[in-house]
Amino acid sequence: MRVLLLGGTGEARDLAVRLVDTGVSVTSSLAGRVARPQLPVGEVRTGGFGGVEGLRAAAREFDLVVDATHPFAAGISANAAAACPEVLLRLQRPGWEPEAAWEYVDTHAEAARTAASSERPLLTIGRQALAEFVPDLRDHAVLARVVDEPDQDLPETWELLRDRGPYTVDGELALMRRHGTDVLVTKDSGGGFTRPKLDAAAAVGARVVVVRRPPAPAGVRTVTTVDEVVAWIEEQR
Ligand code: NAP
Repeated sequence: MRVLLLGGTGEARDLAVRLVDTGVSVTSSLAGRVARPQLPVGEVRTGGFGGVEGLRAAAREFDLVVDATHPFAAGISANAAAACPEVLLRLQRPGWEPEAAWEYVDTHAEAARTAASSERPLLTIGRQALAEFVPDLRDHAVLARVVDEPDQDLPETWELLRDRGPYTVDGELALMRRHGTDVLVTKDSGGGFTRPKLDAAAAVGARVVVVRRPPAPAGVRTVTTVDEVVAWIEEQR
């Protein structure tokens, strides 16, 4: 049994461990965006496939494909749904349970407009989306937290913080108090890894602006846990 695992997430790394442990031959695929990625166990390949056709060709070398990419990685998930629907399973962690005070928006541009009514935004939306916040937040005291250095120059009023976690509520509280955060902007990533910032924001009384997930591709079998993926693969063996 050979499995192609589209990864770049903590769940994908957990799944790779489980599959290697049960004797499944797994090749994890990473986009190659992050300079020093956390590497999963098993085989790893890096870089795009070259669109739907490239992924279709690559998938022929495997029995099953698991799309365990991030909920906001809509491009690769759409490609997988088009390239190999018959052998594809999607692993997507649930979004966070919404809280009444959180302000949900559909796009990063809308998040920027919404955050602009506060003074000191903490942006935790990733390096690639930062450019969409510059027009509305150019003069704000933004703290932008990213894993890797962004490609573009940021406004002089902005502070850049490079960090990749793990995060704790105490650490997030200290960060928000130091910065004076009055609004937190986040994607609806879900999961526990970045959850502490939401609890810290509540504790310091900061607003929370949440960018909704892009729609998942239609018609793809989807599960929410690593256990369910392992069970599905066992059924196919
Ligand atoms: P994306 O916009 O959905 O993908 C753009 C292109 O990057 C894809 O068409 C594909 O190129 C390539 N690609 C993406 N993921 C790939 C993978 N796992 N293996 C091989 N090629 C991949 O992706 P993104 O939002 O930039 O995310 C890139 C990676 O970072 C994903 O693996 C994702 O799991 C991880 N990640 C993303 C986020 C986020 O917020 N977006 C957060 C955490 C981790 P080709 O068309 O050439 O195949």
